[in-house]
Amino acid sequence: MIPTTIAAWNHVRGLTPLSLCDWPGKPCCVVFLGGCNLRCPTCHNADMAWNMESQPLLPQATLRAFLAKRKRWLSGITVTGGEPTLVPGLGAILHELSACGLPIKLDTNAMLPEVVEAVLDEGLVSLFAVDVKGPLAKYPELTGGAVSEYDARRNLSHIFALAQARPEAFFFRTTRVPLLTDADMDAVRAMLPAGFALTTQDYKPPRRPHALADSEARRTTGNLVN
Ligand code: SF4
Repeated sequence: MIPTTIAAWNHVRGLTPLSLCDWPGKPCCVVFLGGCNLRCPTCHNADMAWNMESQPLLPQATLRAFLAKRKRWLSGITVTGGEPTLVPGLGAILHELSACGLPIKLDTNAMLPEVVEAVLDEGLVSLFAVDVKGPLAKYPELTGGAVSEYDARRNLSHIFALAQARPEAFFFRTTRVPLLTDADMDAVRAMLPAGFALTTQDYKPPRRPHALADSEARRTTGNLVN
């Protein structure tokens, strides 16, 4: 059996050295973890999400050396995917990253709230960017059939409870994909816990369906929709 830590590092499949838009107000690097539990038809990063072996592995030593050299120019690390909470041994990766002294923001689709709670309780993540895909009833369609309305309600309720207890550690965002109407966006806003605003972003279709990388959208491999 492969040790969990090795299995975890096998998911580290990309690095953007500097981003000024992934963490509002903080210049950060972005670490990409391959694999996703959803099948959103609008996914911009299908290869990272569903075929991570197609993306080059980023060796642990390379990432460690990068952080040692560049951390003084950065204010944080964004961990994205795919879906980072799906990675077995995620805590080991977060421990390694946080050893450089930078805070970590983690992007999540919120469908594994127990993992979010665990890394929050361990103090490994300073901020969670939670993607709310749309109104609960549209989750099956928005996620390629991966999430039922029932599961969306249960998982988001768990995340919302965590956010109410630790409001400084969460923000919520929705990408307005073609399936979503004005009424849907209002429904998402109404779902959020009291005091939270919804960050919205426009959907930009990939130049071809499920593009190999967002380089086609003038962005390095990443996750615009998650
Ligand atoms: S959009 Fe995000 S949550 Fe959906 S399949 Fe792609 S990586 Fe996964």
